[in-house]
This record gives sequence, C-alpha cells and structure tokens, in this order.
Amino acid sequence: MRKFLAGSMLLGWVGLASACLPSAAPPTVHVPPPTPTTVTLYVSNTPTVAAQSTRTAPTLTASHLPQPGEPCEPAQSTSAQSAIRYTVDATLDYETRQVQVRDAIAFRNETGDTLDELVFYFAPNAQPGVVTLEAVTQPDSDAPLAASLEGTRLSVQLPEPLGEHCAQDLTIAYLLNVLPMGEGYFPLQGYLGFSERQFNLGHWLPTVAHRVAGEWITPPRINVGEQEVIPAADFEVALTARHAPRHLTVVGPGTVEQRRSVWRFSLSQARDLTLSLSNQYRRQSATAANGVEVELYTLDEFSPSSESAANAPDQALDTAVAALELYSDLYGPYPYDRLVVLESDFPDGMEFSGLVFVGGEWFRGYHGDPASYLTLITAHEVSHQWWYVQVANDQSQTPWLDEALATYSEYVFLQEIYPELTDWWWRFRVDAYAPEGFVDSTVYEFNSIRGYINAVYLQGARLVHRLREDVGGEAFFQWLHDYVEAERGQIATPESFWAALPPDLLEATQATREAFLRRSEIAPNRPD
Ligand SMILES: [Zn+2]
Repeated sequence: MRKFLAGSMLLGWVGLASACLPSAAPPTVHVPPPTPTTVTLYVSNTPTVAAQSTRTAPTLTASHLPQPGEPCEPAQSTSAQSAIRYTVDATLDYETRQVQVRDAIAFRNETGDTLDELVFYFAPNAQPGVVTLEAVTQPDSDAPLAASLEGTRLSVQLPEPLGEHCAQDLTIAYLLNVLPMGEGYFPLQGYLGFSERQFNLGHWLPTVAHRVAGEWITPPRINVGEQEVIPAADFEVALTARHAPRHLTVVGPGTVEQRRSVWRFSLSQARDLTLSLSNQYRRQSATAANGVEVELYTLDEFSPSSESAANAPDQALDTAVAALELYSDLYGPYPYDRLVVLESDFPDGMEFSGLVFVGGEWFRGYHGDPASYLTLITAHEVSHQWWYVQVANDQSQTPWLDEALATYSEYVFLQEIYPELTDWWWRFRVDAYAPEGFVDSTVYEFNSIRGYINAVYLQGARLVHRLREDVGGEAFFQWLHDYVEAERGQIATPESFWAALPPDLLEATQATREAFLRRSEIAPNRPD
C-alpha cells in the first residue's frame, strides 16, 4: 500500500470552486447521426458464404450442443471457462481498407433465461456503409440462421430455444469497410478508422449484448462519450494482412504470434480485442515492478535535437508504468502480462482491453513539463484497465462509473508521483471549466462533448474526492479495492458501487450524493 493511503487528504476542497475562463478550444458541435442502416437476412436455400464457412467452423463446444428434438444438455460449465468465446479469422486488404471477418462465437447461456434469439452489439453498423453482413451460420450446417441488423443491434434467431447453461455456436461473416479518420457520422471515433500511417480496428467485432431483466442492451451510438456495455469474454483473433506495406507492424494486446503475414492474438476475460497497424511504429518498452511488460508505440519522430517533444515517448512510457504499478497497488491486480500504449492519429485517447490510445496531439504538445495532458491522459487511459476493462458499466447510461473514477485516478496518480502538481490539476483540469450538471447523467443528455465532460468527468472527480473526504482515505481505497474485487469481469451498476461501501460509511456520503447526483437515494436492501 502506498504511503498516502493512510490519510493524506487534499485540504479545503470548498476553496476550489472558483472558476477561471476555460483554456481549451471551444466545444465541438455535434450532428446527431441519421437513422442507421438496416439489413435483414433470411434463410436462403443457396447460401454462398455459409458453404465457405464450414471450412473453419468452430468446434469448441459443438459436443455440448443439444441434438434436434432432444432436451438441452447443459454445457460442461466450469467457472474458469468464459461463457463467451470469440474466435475471429480476419483478412485485411490494405489497399481497399476492407476487412473480411468471420467471427465464430461459442456462447454458453448464463443469462438465467431460455433464449429464442441471441443479440449482438455491433458498434460499426451505427455508421451506414461500413458493415456488409453476409451470413450467420451454425457449425456443420449450410443453412444460414435468420438474422436482422438494425443500427448497433444484430438479432439472430436460434434454431431452437436455448436453455440455461446450454451452449450454442455460431459464426457471423461480414465485410468491414473501414473509413478514413475524421469522416462519416463519428469523425472522432478514429479507433475504427485509418490515417495515412495508422489503421485501427477498435470495436470492430459483434459482441454478445448484455442482458438485463430479460432485455438485450444495444445502446445507439452518438458523438458524445462511449456507448459500450460489453460482457467479458475470451478472444482469439487471427489477422492476415494482404497488400500490406513493407515493415508493417500489427500491434495488439495479450499473447502475440506472427507467421509471415498472419498475426495471432489471444486475450482472456476482455471486453474487446483491438488492433492497430502501421509501418511507422517505433517501439520502446519497460517492465513494471509487478512484471507487466509495458510497450509504447509512437508514430511521430521525436528528434533528440528538438528539446520540446524529444522526451514525450519517455514521459508517456514512464507515466504508463508508474500508473500501472500504482493502480495495481490501490485497486487490485492488473489482469494481463502486457499493456500496450499507442500514439493515435485520432484525438484525445481511448481505452481498450490491454491496450490504450493516447492522442498524438498530447505527444507533440509535450514540452518537457510533466504538468501536461500527455501525463494526465496517459494515466487516465491506463486507469480504464480497472474502470471499464475489469469493472465494466453501461457507458451510455452510467458513464460516470468509469469516467469519474478514471478522471479522479489522474489526481491519485499525481498525488503519488508528482505531489507538487495536485493544486495545478484542480485548477487546470477541473475548475477552469466551471463544471456543473448531474454526475449521473446519461450520454444522451448532452449535445456537446464539453458539457458531458464537465458534468460526468469533472463534477465526477469532485464527487469522488468528496466521497474520499466523507469516508476517509484508507476506507476510500479499501472501498474501490472491494468494488473491483466484487465486480471484476461483471458489468457494475451504481447500486453495486455503493454496495461495496459498509453501511455506516454509506450513511456518511449522503450529503455528497445529494449535492452531485440526480439519483442520490440508495436502495436500502443492499446485499451483504
Ligand atoms: Zn476516460
């Protein structure tokens, strides 16, 4: 445990409310996307994709499948085995920027319901013209399953009702037409997009939707915040790059294997498996105290002769290593052997499982002073390995659960590594924007990113700091640690966040909850 846990506390929070003029660029205007494209597939007697698909049909759980007409035999479920596994075979044509994807899903029904359909969250289809759905098939069958794709929602009719603990395998084949960064309805979501020198595949796979109270959750995409709510799963991805430039590097999380033009990645208990390709990546790495290998990939040339940005890669790597060590101590162990940090050609930053992007503008704007967005955003994105990857949440409905904690984690990082910068952080990062609004707002309540950041991130950081003062520093970090322990691999809710706090301490947070939250009352029947 770090020394400051015992109670070093920022004094005089109330003095921080004075506002300065915002120092950053004015908020971007966001055009809401039109009604998303709809594609409906139905059973055809002459499937073409289905015939191809039998070559590499998954066999993972085929033996557990119920036979037609027989009662379903529950899969040989073990707690160590993920209920969802994706085995992805993808071929990228680097010239056309199209990816042919076959996503083989092995699903075990742990939803508590008997299922007639399986629903997937398919983020790329929020943008028309990106996804061409070809077929959804079962192993050992040529007949495609009935499926409909509407916006982010892909619904697949199951051949027969799927009982609890029973398994179903199916394969989704589609063509992904990746757009240039900055184009389309989601110009800022360059984690699925390409620039001259970077090709990113983030949130590119259909993933089994979260199911709550008998409803599948497939949030519509908008240009404010994120909308993911993804059950944890195991991923295996093989990517073949055709017509690729010389010296292409495919960067991804987890275990990596390369044979000629085929890269294989494997990652367990993840929310996504995200790849980034470039023939210009410069790699440097360091080993954290807990043995995790932290790798940094940069695109720009940071010449030693230009003092300004020369140390940006070092600063990003040092920050990522220190943040990983600190958050592992405070919040619980980091779950993977590697952490990848990438300089991105799209703005700001973005979190994925075992891999984070940090905007190139933060690298290029680094002038040797650690009081910079390069430090803050790197620490912020690393903290999402706890607040999103390990403990997920509905990022559309309760974005504060990950973003308030990730923003406050920047402050926690500074307290430990750069304690002289903590006052600067409140002024520069929070107070300068005079933030307001309910912290527990949904992403759909905002028409600008600035308003969203102010309420959810910045007021969120104030909320979390006040909670820390309410319960005391030691109990605060114990709370976060217990919360991760209880919700690891799950999709947390505000109820589960508060339930990780002992009742007497919960009581102590009431005034803070009332000051910052629309829903400040906590249900009394909290579980033990
Ligand atoms: Zn964030």
